[in-house]
Amino acid sequence: MKLKIVKGTRDLYGDDVERFQFLEDKAREVFSLYGYEEIRTPMFERTELFAHGVGQDTDIVGKEMFLLEDRRGRSMALRPEMTASVVRSIITDNHMQQATHRRFYYIGPMFRYEQPQKGRFRQFYQIGAEYFGVSTPDSDAELLLMLRQYFKKVDLNAVSFQLNTIGCQNPDCRPAFKKNLVDFLTVQKEYLCENCTRRIDTNPLRVLDCKEESCIAVTKDAPKIYEHVCEECGEHFSELRSILDDHGVVYTLNHKLVRGLDYYSRTVFEVYSDNLGAQNAAGGGGRYDSLFEVYGSPIIPALGFALGLDRLAMLIRLGEKKADGLFVIGHHRRMVNTLVSNCREAGYKTLYDPFQSSMKSQFRQANKANVSHVLILGDDELKEGIVSVKNMTTSTQTSVPIDRIIGHIESELSPER
Ligand code: AMP
Repeated sequence: MKLKIVKGTRDLYGDDVERFQFLEDKAREVFSLYGYEEIRTPMFERTELFAHGVGQDTDIVGKEMFLLEDRRGRSMALRPEMTASVVRSIITDNHMQQATHRRFYYIGPMFRYEQPQKGRFRQFYQIGAEYFGVSTPDSDAELLLMLRQYFKKVDLNAVSFQLNTIGCQNPDCRPAFKKNLVDFLTVQKEYLCENCTRRIDTNPLRVLDCKEESCIAVTKDAPKIYEHVCEECGEHFSELRSILDDHGVVYTLNHKLVRGLDYYSRTVFEVYSDNLGAQNAAGGGGRYDSLFEVYGSPIIPALGFALGLDRLAMLIRLGEKKADGLFVIGHHRRMVNTLVSNCREAGYKTLYDPFQSSMKSQFRQANKANVSHVLILGDDELKEGIVSVKNMTTSTQTSVPIDRIIGHIESELSPER
């Protein structure tokens, strides 16, 4: 049997895992400042959850879901995104019964059957946040402020925000704009790609974010949705923009930004980086006030975003690794083992050579391991009841009685408790 990793998936280790952990730790740190709690939902859900919530005509549901059948023939899907799952949890676990508003964040893998390329995988990872219960523009602004703070924390300057509003379902808002857009697109039909010719009838807004050159050329002059939304949506958008201006949040208006999913209303935004190549979206989100209705639940205003962890990991730079921990060198297996376990129990990362090779080779390993101190238990040390402690940064060596070694290390380092 020839083992092979599944197409579009990858193993993460070494620097990759360090990047992921760094991005995750900083997200937990920053998001908790805004009152977010972590939520972990199942990796798979009933297919209908995504079919209804995300929308039948979206690529995610129409073409990209990993489907499985359980033993009773029910259709399940590996989650292609997590907003629908979090909303499902709000409904099934009654999170809003005791609260006027809730904030949740999540970190985890998502699954989409896409054509893999740089920055695009079939199993990829997202960090996301969802904010429930508040409909005012301050909450939209809060989300963007949190993202700005997060990007600052992970030292990512090369990202930019794009912003749009896609209005609401009121007849004089998005539906009226759609009619307007359909008229415009119908006249230009012959210049649109095959998919977009079909989308004129099924999902005309999606034509606006088609990446085909001919469609981009057509939609350049399309009517701008943010100029045609209803009065209330217009006020929401201009209030949001003025809050962002007050806080110095820099963004570009993009009338073609509609997001692929059906559930959005009003504010939509994306985060881009020019350093990502073709797949330049680092994340996106928006408001989805009507999603609860789709599931037959009373309306709860909601908004959120998802960031692509794999893509952020491509953008960040890891700092120089600091020397860290201890390495015990010696040939007396039991003495070495005891010292190693005493150091570990005292709270220090401690390594040793399990093969007890030559002292020279053990030194080489200690150097490579980038530890701060090497503890030497050679024949001479054993005879005298001492340990030679070498500080790898200063290259100074001290002799310490073996029964006082932990105290000595404590005075040199502070334990990682
Ligand atoms: P979406 O839910 O499609 O808005 O995706 C949010 C973010 O997740 C995107 O901006 C990407 O950074 C990331 N993302 C989406 N699909 C993939 C994928 N197949 N591989 C890697 N990252 C992805």
